[in-house]
Amino acid sequence: MTAPVEIEAITRRFGRVTVLDAVSLELEAGEFAVLLGPSGCGKTTLLNIIGGFLDASAGTVRIGGNDVTQLPAAQRPTTTVFQDYALFPHMTIAQNVAFGLRMRGERRRARLARAAEMLELVGLPGMARRRPHELSGGQRQRVALARALAVRPEVLLLDEPLGALDLKLRRAMQDELKTIQREVGTTFIHVTHDQEEAMAIADRVVLMNAGRIEDQGSPERVYLRPQTAFSAAFMGEINTIPGTAEDGGVATPLGHITVAHHLAVGQKAMLCVRPEHLLRQRPAIGQATVQDGAFFGTHTRVHLSVEGLPDLIAHLPVGAEIKPGDAVPLTPDTDAMFVLPRDPQ
Ligand code: ATP
Repeated sequence: MTAPVEIEAITRRFGRVTVLDAVSLELEAGEFAVLLGPSGCGKTTLLNIIGGFLDASAGTVRIGGNDVTQLPAAQRPTTTVFQDYALFPHMTIAQNVAFGLRMRGERRRARLARAAEMLELVGLPGMARRRPHELSGGQRQRVALARALAVRPEVLLLDEPLGALDLKLRRAMQDELKTIQREVGTTFIHVTHDQEEAMAIADRVVLMNAGRIEDQGSPERVYLRPQTAFSAAFMGEINTIPGTAEDGGVATPLGHITVAHHLAVGQKAMLCVRPEHLLRQRPAIGQATVQDGAFFGTHTRVHLSVEGLPDLIAHLPVGAEIKPGDAVPLTPDTDAMFVLPRDPQ
């Protein structure tokens, strides 16, 4: 089952502190949305308001077109997967998965058949009779997912569900979550502060900052064409070159650089380029000197000094023959550059 989610001007205050400030968001049925942002930006508060665990101070939540703002959690078409899994230790895995169905009064045979189907879905067939303590952390996480999906929610809420897993397992579970979401078609709303995780799984990244939505869109759009300086920096490393918007480009200390932008001519601008787009065998826009390099497995990360500019960071393919003191031409992929307004200093 699946449904669209509409959040309209949700505000939440704790005492005199406004933690969510008129947040509005529309998700389509079947979307995998990720609420991303730094600690304390309000992600969990928003998720709890959608799930009915917390009241909003103002605003409306609609699921499948129905206003659920005043409904208690148990009456909403949502279920939640928590970071700590919250499995019942004295129940078997099958009983855990079937728990919500028992609460709804489904018959035993139907419950156990559904539990078996869900355990199959999350890759744990044959674990039905075990108890939670006999499973690894990753397996318990899958059981929590199976339990949440067993009751056929229209919307599944996931609060940092992979936070307790080691990096390798987390990456594997991200792939699986995405596969499972595609298979069941349920709308997923997943909270994380890890931008790589968000990019790996989301159809839509919703980037939050200080109680507001800063940027939202496909991972590609938010990473390659962020709407704000916060979004550009949160999604990954970024080089910024100060300048002024001109017709068809930006005037910088390196001269005019041809790049598309939406700023008014004469407006203070920030030319932005990600480290992997800086040295790309394109026409040179200037010269740089290599300061140091570090091996990162998939790439070598180098610091470059350029006269008149703050230091830049570039990613080079592993094996690139480069050493401190080398002069290198700056050859960015200008198609991958973007321009943001620069606040007056
Ligand atoms: P994290 O990634 O660290 O979990 P988050 O983005 O999920 O952060 P929230 O848990 O939504 O952030 O909290 C947002 C802000 O609201 C924080 O400043 C937090 O201290 C505050 N807050 C949350 N719950 C309460 C509460 N019950 N009473 C007072 N303040 C609260």
